[in-house]
Amino acid sequence: MQFYIEYKAKLEGLPVVYINPKDTSSLCPICGGRLASNGYRLLKCEKCRYENDRDITACLNLLRMRGAPLPPKALYDPQIIEVRGKG
Ligand SMILES: [Zn+2]
Repeated sequence: MQFYIEYKAKLEGLPVVYINPKDTSSLCPICGGRLASNGYRLLKCEKCRYENDRDITACLNLLRMRGAPLPPKALYDPQIIEVRGKG
């Protein structure tokens, strides 16, 4: 997967940067507080009431770690991602 993403990014002239994913799914991308899980995909910050899907939260934290602006829609409009098994 990483090879393919890097390959496609290079074709488009986009840089690829590897980042340590530590804490990207456990810290709030807005205030840095600890996130609590609902036992499934949803994470919630007890400090600022941020709430979102864990994968989207991880992506927002990766952007924040790179100093990139965070998309307001992703921050304040929780996206629920449904994952379906094969079959
Ligand atoms: Zn927060």
